[in-house]
Amino acid sequence: MATVVRRERGKGDVLVLDAGDEFMGTIWTSTYQGRATASFLSELGVDAMALGNHEFDFGPGVLGAFLDKLALPALGANIDTSREPALDGKIFPSAKVEVAGRTVGVVGFISTDTPLQSSPGENVEFLTDLAAVVQGEVDRLREDNVTIIVGLSHAGFGVDVDLVPRLSGVDVLVGGHSHTRLEGEAYPTFVEDRDGVGVPVVQAFWAAQTVGVLNVTFSEDGALLSATGAPVVLGANASDATTFVDDDADMSGLIDMYRGDVDAFRHLAIGHTDVFLDGQVDSVRSNASNLGVMVCDAMVWKVKQSTGFEDEFGDVDVCLQNSGGITGSVDEGEVTFDDLIRVLPFGNTLAILKVTPAELYIALENGVRRWRGGQGHPEEFPQVTGIRFTFCDEMAEWEKVVTVEVFDGEKFEAVTRDANEPAINLVTNNFIAHGGDNYTVLRDAVQLFPTTGVTLDSTLLDYIMAFSPVSPEVDDRIQHACATG
Ligand SMILES: [Zn+2]
Repeated sequence: MATVVRRERGKGDVLVLDAGDEFMGTIWTSTYQGRATASFLSELGVDAMALGNHEFDFGPGVLGAFLDKLALPALGANIDTSREPALDGKIFPSAKVEVAGRTVGVVGFISTDTPLQSSPGENVEFLTDLAAVVQGEVDRLREDNVTIIVGLSHAGFGVDVDLVPRLSGVDVLVGGHSHTRLEGEAYPTFVEDRDGVGVPVVQAFWAAQTVGVLNVTFSEDGALLSATGAPVVLGANASDATTFVDDDADMSGLIDMYRGDVDAFRHLAIGHTDVFLDGQVDSVRSNASNLGVMVCDAMVWKVKQSTGFEDEFGDVDVCLQNSGGITGSVDEGEVTFDDLIRVLPFGNTLAILKVTPAELYIALENGVRRWRGGQGHPEEFPQVTGIRFTFCDEMAEWEKVVTVEVFDGEKFEAVTRDANEPAINLVTNNFIAHGGDNYTVLRDAVQLFPTTGVTLDSTLLDYIMAFSPVSPEVDDRIQHACATG
């Protein structure tokens, strides 16, 4: 990114914006909780950033420390921190940036779902009427004779596209959160505002895999004359040498300074297990394994850590994880982050769905469809929490599951095949939530939060740190049983 920013600076005047979610579930975030990121953004010369929901993952205290270190304004016009001392006065509705001798107003805002997706605590309020909040700030800037205004959104592309027709005076909208990859004709996507003026809306995918470059020209009185551009694909994702950019030496040096602690963190004991955590193929792909049990327990626990998700959507007590996503074991003793990355290597993230009993039966049928007396070792074999089920391998495919019970927060209740009630909140991973390992039934279910961005390895890390020493046990949640006679 630094290389692209430097190159663009060589061509003309540049406004560098970051649309948020700098805290994401990787080992860098686990190690530094944003402190390294604050340095990188400052070194990159970012002019302003919108706060993302993940910036609240470690609570207001950690975010406050990040903002203290950040050398650029963090924006969120719809974030009210007046009752949260750790953040009050550190987040701004907008910023003014001088570019090419002109003053550009940047108005930031965040997803109104942030309390459901992160842990901002009880004292931070997220104003939900985005159109009113953003327009109010735009009007204030206009009265201040700021004629060029950029919206900086962490609300998602769909929200951005719906919002523009309700706004007046925003010239460009730069967004994040939905990881939308706009290319070709879609970059930028023009949406007509309240006055019938076309507003370019852009977003540049996620995880620094692309840098969006938008070339804009304005008239003397601040009217947008043109907006053209394309995302630049970075690093290993570049398709050929013409799009490949070399690492920036200064930025690489800075990253290397921080890398040592990350590598050290990898090998640091983050907890202790009193038992062998069994992720062997023979175990995890043919029956409940204690590691599979713990992974699913951790996923349910993690959802319960978010501030408001269950208030809005009801309790989440049920988990289903494909055992193919679990690729190793951990010996009794110390557990390191390296162990967790080896066990859960795919960077998959939590996804939350609403399923019917009928859909759950189909999902479990898919899970045991190729069981073959425990010798099939299918990747789709399920590890579960909050579910007890029996299946009979002698039956035909898609007819093997005999009984299913679901935990309702207090007790297990039997649910019937083909039933549409009760609705069951299910936490799973984004891979099978999108139909991976033939779980197409989950892809077609109601997706409450298909992309929470919280990775499985960081979920297990947090869980083990919270509960160490751990000693998960296998119980009777998955039983192979054929009716006799
Ligand atoms: Zn986000």
